[in-house]
Amino acid sequence: RLVSGGTLWLVATPIGNLGDLAPRAVAVLSAAALVCCEDTRRTGRLLQHAGVRAQRLAVANEHTELSRIAEVLDVLAAGDDVAVVTDAGTPGISDPGERLVRAALDAGFDVSAVPGPSADVMALVLSGLPTSRYVFEGFLPRSGRDRSARLAEIAAERRTVVLYEAPHRIRRTLDDLRESCGDDRRAAVARELTKLHEEVLRGTLAEIAAAIGEPRGEYVVVLEGTTTGDEPADDDAIRAALRAELAEGATKKEAVASVASALGTPKKRVYALAIAL
Ligand code: SAM
Repeated sequence: RLVSGGTLWLVATPIGNLGDLAPRAVAVLSAAALVCCEDTRRTGRLLQHAGVRAQRLAVANEHTELSRIAEVLDVLAAGDDVAVVTDAGTPGISDPGERLVRAALDAGFDVSAVPGPSADVMALVLSGLPTSRYVFEGFLPRSGRDRSARLAEIAAERRTVVLYEAPHRIRRTLDDLRESCGDDRRAAVARELTKLHEEVLRGTLAEIAAAIGEPRGEYVVVLEGTTTGDEPADDDAIRAALRAELAEGATKKEAVASVASALGTPKKRVYALAIAL
């Protein structure tokens, strides 16, 4: 770390509700010598709302992020801080930021963040689907083999999957997901998060596709991981496990308890098979 260098700050901004701008975001944006943003007018409005007079604004969007690196490193080298914001949410998540972070780290500068809104995490936690293991897939490739290969990967994924989608593509993406994952795969589709008309549709892919209505706003799709391969043990497997337990000297009651827990099968079902043995 360069002791005298400034810090590169990734600053999360609201995804729809200005009340979500953190006090620490305001402090960091006020203190930064340079604020990199995707759109100066949009960020200008946010700063104005927050009463921040930024020292300098510069555009770092998906096309210009790389060419902004030299200037950012110069500011950091002078001992001043640089803030990175995007149009909405957390920089670096399907948004510019990653390349500036890499460059600052490679040059030995400190990188930190003011965490805050991100549509992916919000949709995930509202989905009602398992949150203990999930993968963020961002936007799907738009067409061709890249898209079909990604859809196939997603269909086979066991963890919960989070996708971003634009309003004009949400129907097609739901159709493609139905085709690759099946109509019955459970999912949630969230839109207008943190806004007045926030909505989360939950159900199977077929149910959501039927309920979605006129696409409006930006969408997050949360998809349950596949459970193929998790099917309950069949009767033969249960009987074999029971016989093995009984042969070891377990009582019927002990064998039922141990097999039910080992195979993740309801005790009632194991008991019925034990009686019939
Ligand atoms: N960096 C952002 C974040 O942390 O969420 C994401 C930026 S990405 C370019 C924009 C996508 O995020 C949208 O197409 C949509 O999928 C999702 N998104 C952003 N704001 C949203 C909101 N209020 N409701 C639902 N989805 C949103």
